[in-house]
Amino acid sequence: MNPIIWWIRRDARLADNAALYEAIKAGYQVIPLYIHAPGEEAPWEPGAAARWWQHFSLHHLKERLEDHGSRLVIRRGESLETLRRVIGETGAAGVHWNRLYEPAIVKRDTEIKRSLREEGYIARSFSGALLHEPTNITNKSGKPFQVYTPFWKHLQSLDDPPRPLPEPSSIPTPGDLPSGLALDDLKLLPRIKWDGEMRKVWVPGEGGATQAFNGFLRERITLYNDERNRPDRNGVSRLSPFLHHGDLTPRQLWHGVRDAMDAIHNSRDSRASCWSWLRQVAWREFSHHLLFHFPHTQNEPLRHEFSAFPWRKDDGALKAWQAGKTGYPIVDAGMRELWATGWMHNRVRMITASFLVKHLRIHWLEGARWFWDTLVDASLANNTMGWQWTSGCGADAAPYFRIFNPITQGEKFDETGDYTRHWIPEITLLPNRFLWKPWESSEDVLEKAGVRLGETYPYPIVDHFTERENALAGYEEVKSHKKGN
Ligand SMILES: Cc1cc2nc3c(=O)[nH]c(=O)nc-3n(C[C@H](O)[C@H](O)[C@H](O)COP(=O)(O)OP(=O)(O)OC[C@H]3O[C@@H](n4cnc5c(N)ncnc54)[C@H](O)[C@@H]3O)c2cc1C
Repeated sequence: MNPIIWWIRRDARLADNAALYEAIKAGYQVIPLYIHAPGEEAPWEPGAAARWWQHFSLHHLKERLEDHGSRLVIRRGESLETLRRVIGETGAAGVHWNRLYEPAIVKRDTEIKRSLREEGYIARSFSGALLHEPTNITNKSGKPFQVYTPFWKHLQSLDDPPRPLPEPSSIPTPGDLPSGLALDDLKLLPRIKWDGEMRKVWVPGEGGATQAFNGFLRERITLYNDERNRPDRNGVSRLSPFLHHGDLTPRQLWHGVRDAMDAIHNSRDSRASCWSWLRQVAWREFSHHLLFHFPHTQNEPLRHEFSAFPWRKDDGALKAWQAGKTGYPIVDAGMRELWATGWMHNRVRMITASFLVKHLRIHWLEGARWFWDTLVDASLANNTMGWQWTSGCGADAAPYFRIFNPITQGEKFDETGDYTRHWIPEITLLPNRFLWKPWESSEDVLEKAGVRLGETYPYPIVDHFTERENALAGYEEVKSHKKGN
């Protein structure tokens, strides 16, 4: 029997991998092939932090495959051509892969499936990145959902997604696997070494994913409800990069949590906390549903009247935001956490994003692009939804008049001040009552804390109250544009 190519994309894992599992179950020998073709994802080819993750995730898979007596074959080039070439070299019967849902990838994969089948090869795709296929989820009118709560209720009314597939005990491999590149040849790691902190914080790959999930399940999920909005606590799972890169699957999470809930007999709060976490996992599902059904949202607002918002162009302010030098400590803490670790707490993502689009009135796409390049979990679906939600122009978005106050947000959600102090050491000695508004401190307080505003830490680049009014005026323009239409 001829072998099958397992075309590896964002699924560098052995467990719950339908493309691999079904090939082995059908009795094929497997050729594990990764094709490097980032240009095919344009205009959203993976950013620098995501490439960093991908390197280590693939490295881990490479080692795991070798433990199973197999080998990762790496090629670079146009995907369809490369698949044809490897089929030609190996006599493979065809290709298996797990589906992804970004518009450029859907388009490419559809074309590849059609071409290979026409040429007489097997071309089968499988589900793995989501709990349910976006094509199977519709509201009562048969349309895609655009509001989260009914989407979530609908998801809960469905049967549980299939249980995760087991890891194969062995991977049947042809004796003469084709040649390939070394992982380092792909140059996924940065030339300038900005990844020191990231190496300390993350263990990308399937092993790191399992460890992180088990730890969260064992020790923290039952506290999630109380702690999830607190960047100064270790309250969230930090699983987003593993999920995005396919080091683990949402089905593994869903069933892992449901099984754990069965074991929690007498605590209603703990069970509620587990549901609250699954509800967040379903936000990821919702964002993929939206991007799949409304592919234009990757570059345009879902609510198109928002195109009339009077965005400003201000490179100086954009740079200050990116560098964590706006003078608003909670915003700056988030942006510095992002730069150092490739990740930011959800609450702080909302605060920093709101600051860019509402206080600075800089286009949400500028923010989305910066996050895209710096987040290890940069996901087109989640990032697009997050930015459009914050700007008020997406599905089920925050109301436009909700303008986060960066001072009270810091006071409320970083109550201890630990988070802000960790990322902004230059103001660490300020007392909590001035920590999120250093400019209101007296000369005396500043001097004692060793803070020289404008020198050791910036003055705020804009005034919260003035910019709040300006943002609201901008939204009035959107409203009148809508009426005019
Ligand atoms: C402006 C903005 C941009 C964002 N960009 C991204 C992005 O590029 N990639 C990304 O994965 N998330 C993004 N998010 C969503 C969210 O901030 C992260 O998923 C979350 O912070 C990841 O941390 P965690 O794994 O500890 O989440 P947990 O709280 O432990 O949640 C578990 C999982 O649920 C999913 N999830 C949680 N919250 C959300 C949410 N609001 N939207 C969608 N899925 C969610 C994630 O997959 C997450 O890993 C963005 C949010 C905003 C406001």
